[in-house]
Amino acid sequence: MPFTETQQIQLQQGAKAWGLDLNALAIERFTLYADHLEEVNKTFNLTRVRPEEYHTLHFLDSLSLYAVLQPAPGQKLLDVGTGAGLPGLALAIAFPTLQVTLMDATLKRLRFLDAVVAELGLSNVTTLHARAEQKVGGAQFDIVTARAVARLPQLVDLLLPFVNRGGAAIAYKTPAVDEEISDTRPLLPRYRATLERVAKVALPETDIVRRLVVVRRAR
Ligand code: SAM
Repeated sequence: MPFTETQQIQLQQGAKAWGLDLNALAIERFTLYADHLEEVNKTFNLTRVRPEEYHTLHFLDSLSLYAVLQPAPGQKLLDVGTGAGLPGLALAIAFPTLQVTLMDATLKRLRFLDAVVAELGLSNVTTLHARAEQKVGGAQFDIVTARAVARLPQLVDLLLPFVNRGGAAIAYKTPAVDEEISDTRPLLPRYRATLERVAKVALPETDIVRRLVVVRRAR
């Protein structure tokens, strides 16, 4: 089933509620992305989310970052363990002036992403085939994201080596993160980082409340 007009409107209105305007080109790109994801997912398991929920559980979920942090033009974002491009590719569509790197350990997922990026005509995205532990590129990113990659204590070691001074790591988490936070705090001084906030963001059209954990490195 192709991405419907109702899904397009819900996506646009959901983003608008956070103050984020998605223009016609962004909506067109989300539509193409959803159609590709649905098509490829028939033969290669990229996501268990049903196509009728891509706009909420994938796209609005990814964009919920805007409720806690507004990327500035020209900033660099790394998405670790991007999988089918979430949240990184969704953020690249919404913020065409953000320079986005999509990292994953699985080459097949990156091949899918390369094809989608070309089809969408995005010039602000590169893909990187690596494991985060390899620390390829070093601390050069203003924002480093991860969704559904690891528990928070492990994520700290995977994400913070890529965050530049003054930059932030954002972990997309569930309410269960409360139990992970006490194990995480002792690890932060090693990176001169602090737990800035754990934000609760309600996902439109769902009863899900996302937890976004913001860890910031000192300047
Ligand atoms: N972030 C996507 C999402 O939320 O839909 C994908 C989540 S999927 C459960 C986890 C992804 O992280 C997989 O694509 C896997 O290959 C990748 N991954 C896991 N550990 C990794 C690591 N240490 N370095 C790079 N990628 C990793």
